[in-house]
Amino acid sequence: MKYFDYAATTPPDPDVVRTIAEVMEAHYGNPSSIHGYGERAHQLLRRARVGCATAIGVKPEEIIFTSGATESNNLAIKGAALRYQSRGKHIITTATEHASVYESFLQLQQWGWDVTWIPVDSLGRVTAQQVIEALRPDTVLVSLMHVNNETGAIHPIAEIGKRLKKEARRVLFHVDGVQGVGKLEAKPASWYADLYSLSAHKFRGPKGAGLLYVRSGIELTPLLSGGSQENGMRAGTENVALLVGMAKAIRLAVERQPQFAERVTVYRDQIMACIKEIPGLVLNSDQQGAPHIIHFSYPGMKAEVVLHTLEQLGVTVSTQSACSSRSAEPSRVLLAMGRDAACAAGGLRISLGDEHTEEDVNLLKQAIHQMMAQLRPLERR
Ligand code: PLP
Repeated sequence: MKYFDYAATTPPDPDVVRTIAEVMEAHYGNPSSIHGYGERAHQLLRRARVGCATAIGVKPEEIIFTSGATESNNLAIKGAALRYQSRGKHIITTATEHASVYESFLQLQQWGWDVTWIPVDSLGRVTAQQVIEALRPDTVLVSLMHVNNETGAIHPIAEIGKRLKKEARRVLFHVDGVQGVGKLEAKPASWYADLYSLSAHKFRGPKGAGLLYVRSGIELTPLLSGGSQENGMRAGTENVALLVGMAKAIRLAVERQPQFAERVTVYRDQIMACIKEIPGLVLNSDQQGAPHIIHFSYPGMKAEVVLHTLEQLGVTVSTQSACSSRSAEPSRVLLAMGRDAACAAGGLRISLGDEHTEEDVNLLKQAIHQMMAQLRPLERR
């Protein structure tokens, strides 16, 4: 069986797993304790913070460790909206963000904030001009993802950050960077991002570890009440072992990024060409998107039927994103891109990782052709 669902999660790097196990066994002290055990754990945490900060080009004191990007996104969005509500209660995003951003905006809307949902184009992108035009005197936050987790669409984050910095200095800019790091260049400070979220398991680190970059000078209202860990922004004892593992994984991912992108772009283009050739399939991503994600629809066929047929043929792909793939609803992302209900209900995602080879890609292409041969007679007309 070949796994093509790296956007859902990645196999942890064996070196990262070893490091985590070593730290768990040998350095179990609480990093807030002042005795030797605590001090050693604190040193490891400090080094992990420096490692993560260096990998994305920011200062160590700007890194808040979290349990993953769901928490980072919640903290960035609600924490900023609550902290800066005296400046205004207007916030901006799109309808194609990850559920952790989308649902945070819906919650703030229920709590009295005014939300502008910027429409995306047929490939799921917004322009910097749209963002600028959505601004109001009471806008406090813009939140956009770097790379879309379903389709691989890339928002022009650098250009948006630059325009915001020039034209709306006081508006905070949050970037959900989960699907971009290790795949594209990821330097949040160079985009003038104020807040930037990551999750370790998307770049071969452990699940349950993530970070939020909070630019110096920005304050957030904490979402958890408790101790003063993480600059007072995130209470709770840090999971030192997982965070040390995350620091190792992000270093490796960022070091390998240029070669990774070059290699998988070739595979992505081959897979896209294969899908384009097959009558009845609709490609929802293009070559301007991320190098590792291919999204297509088989209108008239249930996505789960396609997924299970492909699984029987030896390849694992995904329906929608992992967190919504058990939902019977059509994809909110595809609907926002203007696809019809049949397309939005029949969407599948193929996502590539650094272990894939030419041979794997050939197996996948073959499986897609075989799947079509098996399912075509069953199509609803
Ligand atoms: N943001 C994006 C773009 C994602 O793809 C994901 C995970 O799928 C998340 C946020 C949430 O990450 P986690 O589930 O690790 O909290």
